[in-house]
Amino acid sequence: MRIQKYLIVLIILVGSFAFIGCGGPDHSPKISGRPSYAITVNQLASRLGLVVQKAGDPYYELKNANNRVLLFTYENGRVYVNGTAVCPIGTVTKSGGVTYVSELLVPQIRGSLISSYTPPKAVTPSYRTASGTVVIDPGHGGNDPGATSYSGYYEKGVNLSIARKVASYLEAQGIRVIKTRNRDTFIELNERADIANRANADLFVSIHCDSHPKSSQNGYTIYVARSASWASKKTAAAIEQSMGQTGLESIGIRNQDFRVLVRTSCPAVLVECGYLTNPYEAGLLYDSDFQDRVARAIADGIVNSL
Ligand SMILES: [Zn+2]
Repeated sequence: MRIQKYLIVLIILVGSFAFIGCGGPDHSPKISGRPSYAITVNQLASRLGLVVQKAGDPYYELKNANNRVLLFTYENGRVYVNGTAVCPIGTVTKSGGVTYVSELLVPQIRGSLISSYTPPKAVTPSYRTASGTVVIDPGHGGNDPGATSYSGYYEKGVNLSIARKVASYLEAQGIRVIKTRNRDTFIELNERADIANRANADLFVSIHCDSHPKSSQNGYTIYVARSASWASKKTAAAIEQSMGQTGLESIGIRNQDFRVLVRTSCPAVLVECGYLTNPYEAGLLYDSDFQDRVARAIADGIVNSL
C-alpha cells in the first residue's frame, strides 16, 4: 500500500518534469513526432550565430556581419531574413518579461542565412566630388502628415529624417543643397517646385514613403513625370540602381504627373522609399541606421547622375 503511494507520487513527479521540460504547452507544428521546445529569443540568436540588436516592439532584430533577421512576435507575425519573409513566427509566449519562440525556428531561419558574404564595394569613392545645386524635398509636413505607418507613426517625419541625411551626404561631396523644409512645417506643392525654380537648381528630388491597403505590398519606386526629360530619367535610373544597396526590392521607375515633378523646370524625380503599411518596411524605415542606408543610396544615385 505504502509502496503503491510512492509509485503514484513518482509517476506524477516524472510526468510534471517532462511537461516543464517542454517549456509549457506549445501549439507549434511538430516535426517527425518530436515536440518542439520553446526557447528564448537570446537562445535562438546564439544558436544561429546572431546577436540580438533590438528587442521589443514591433520586432526583434538579430544580426551578424552577414545577416539581419527580424522577428515580428505579434499574432500571425512573420520572420524576415535579409528582407525576405521566410516563415510565420509560430507560437510566441511571454513569461516574466522574457519572450519564448519555437525551437523549430532555428532550422527554418538557418536555411536562409548567408554564410559567406562579400560586402558590396562602395559605389561612390570618397575622392569623388560633384558640383551643382540640388533641391531635396521632404514630402508632406505640418498639418499634412502623409501616410500613417503600420505602427502608427507618420510619413512626414521619416521623409524629413531621410532628407536631412541625404543633404549631409551631398554636402560632403561638395554639392550645394537646398531643402524645401527643414522642420515639421506645411509647404504648398507649387512652392516646393518654385523653390527649385528660383534657385535655378540642377536637380529636384522629392522624398516620400508609400502606403497601400494591402500590408503585403512592399518595395521602393522612383517616379518621373510622363513628359520627363532625359536627365530626369537618367537620375531616376541611377537612384533606382543605387537604392538596391538598401536590400529593399525595386518596383521600378514609374511615370506619374505629380505636381512637384511637372512644375519644376529642372530634372525632377520622386522617390517612394518603401511601404509604411508593410510591417517589415515600416520597422526598417523608422530605424535611424536604416534611414541612413536609404539616404546614402539616394545620395549615391544623385552624385552618379550629376
Ligand atoms: Zn508621401
